[in-house]
This record gives sequence, structure tokens and C-alpha cells, in this order.
Amino acid sequence: MAEPISEGLQKKLSSRLGFYEDLGIGLFYRDRGSVAASDSEHHLEPPAIAHFSTPELQKEATLPKPAVKPALQKAASAVAPVIPKIASLPVVAGPSLFEAVDKIVGDSLLKVREDLGECTRCKLHSTRHKIVFGDGNPKAELIFVGEGPGADEDAQGLPFVGRAGKLLTQMIEAMGLQRKDVYICNVVKCRPPENRQPEEDEVSTCSPFLLRQIDVIAPKVIVCLGAVAAKTLLQTNRGISQFRGEWLEFRGRKLLATYHPAYLLRNPPAKSEVWKDLQKVMAVLGLEVKKGKSSP
Ligand code: URA
Repeated sequence: MAEPISEGLQKKLSSRLGFYEDLGIGLFYRDRGSVAASDSEHHLEPPAIAHFSTPELQKEATLPKPAVKPALQKAASAVAPVIPKIASLPVVAGPSLFEAVDKIVGDSLLKVREDLGECTRCKLHSTRHKIVFGDGNPKAELIFVGEGPGADEDAQGLPFVGRAGKLLTQMIEAMGLQRKDVYICNVVKCRPPENRQPEEDEVSTCSPFLLRQIDVIAPKVIVCLGAVAAKTLLQTNRGISQFRGEWLEFRGRKLLATYHPAYLLRNPPAKSEVWKDLQKVMAVLGLEVKKGKSSP
């Protein structure tokens, strides 16, 4: 007979399975109830064809053709875009930790970076090479928030510069923007060893700096890339597939969660969902979804 699993291990396994589920890896464990739902969520529409520009990535990075619905087209080209209704996500009772934190008057990215310093606040500092603070336009209307640096980011000190980063860059360009137009950062600023998920204490230690970055930049839209960013900012334990692509609110700003580019590299069919999400963002930012444009 198999040995009983300790409570601690059970908790860890359950959290890990939840994470896989959030990423859409629903068939990981066949007894999990939400398998059918999460799997079907990824196949809402057959993806049309569109490609990102980097030839090497085109094979994998097939995005859906911007299936421009008349309503979206209208919203995208209008001077004052139609702002979709913002849903509120019932997460925790009362204001979340973040909602309760006041903005720091006179704050700046420079001050946030100075305060972060050569951080040793959590255990991630002992294995990192470079702190990955964030990169891009300090006045961006759009912020992408990822999970944490990987090996390439840790070596260069810049966010999203590895394989997943190249795909993110293509996604940004498909929106008609460039990396320098947006701001890109992560929940944790140091690489978790072996790219494991950041742990709760690491997230809670580092996220005040993310919060300050968001407050200083004051973007119109925050896009959370993946479950860790979404769960951190929204303070929820709900799986990302339950609210992916919905307009939510974070400290008075519009927030939308979508799948992480690393997940898209492993699961290219999900790109169609992400492209739909990004088109929603484009509409709110007044970016034109060009008819027939098969994203560069
Ligand atoms: N994945 C992330 O979440 N962030 C990065 O910067 C790179 C990969």
C-alpha cells in the first residue's frame, strides 16, 4: 500500500497542481474536477492564422489573425474608446493589502530603485546575479507584469529578454507598439533558483516595490502575465482561467490577466486567447486593430 502523504507535502502538491491548472495544464491529474472546464476554455474558437515577425519563432508563435469584430474595430478607432465594464473580483473580504496602502507622495522610479538597493530582504538574493528591476517607458500607459526573472534576465538585469521575452516583444509589436513604449517588470526582482515559482514570503517581501512602480508609472492598463502576477495583484486564489481576459480593477486602474508567454511557448494554441485579450487592451488604449493585418 502506498505511504500516506504528509499534510505539508499534500499542501505543496495541491498548490502545484493548482498552478498547473491555472496555466491550463488541466489534464495533469485526472481526478481534478475542473479539468474539463479549464481544457475547454482554451478552445473557444479555432485560431485563425497570424504570425509574429521573428522567423525563428514563427513556427511556435502563431497568433490568431486579429479577428476584428465590427464593434471592436469601432472602439479601437474611436477618439474616446468604449471602455468595457470593469468587473470586480470577489477575492478577500475587505480591502486587499494593496488597496489599503497609500501612494507615496513624490515617489519616483529612481527612489524605488534606490530603496530596493542591493536587496538582501529575502533568500532569493543569495542565488541571483543581477536584480531585474524593470524596463521601459516610465510614463507608459501599459505595464506588463511577469512572475520573476529567468536565467537570461538574471544575467542581463533586464526583464523578459529570453525566449519568453522574445515572444512578449512580438506580442507588443503585434499591438503596434514597441518595448520602449511600455513598461515591463516582475513580481519578484530576483531569479528564483531553477525558475521555481516565487514563494509566498518572497512575493510579499518584493511586491511593495512593484506596487510603487505601478503607482509611479500610473498606467492606464496593467496586464498580468500569468497566474503569479494576477494572483499577487488581485490577492486571489482563484485560477487564472476563471478571470483571464476580463477587465478587473487594481487601485483604480484597469487590469487584465492573460497567459504567460512561457506557457504560450509550451502551448501555442492558447495564443489565440492571448491575442483576443491584447485586442481588448488595444481598444482601451485607442490602438487601431488594422483590418487584414496579420500582426507583423
Ligand atoms: N518570465 C518572467 O515572468 N519574467 C521575466 O522577466 C522573464 C521570464
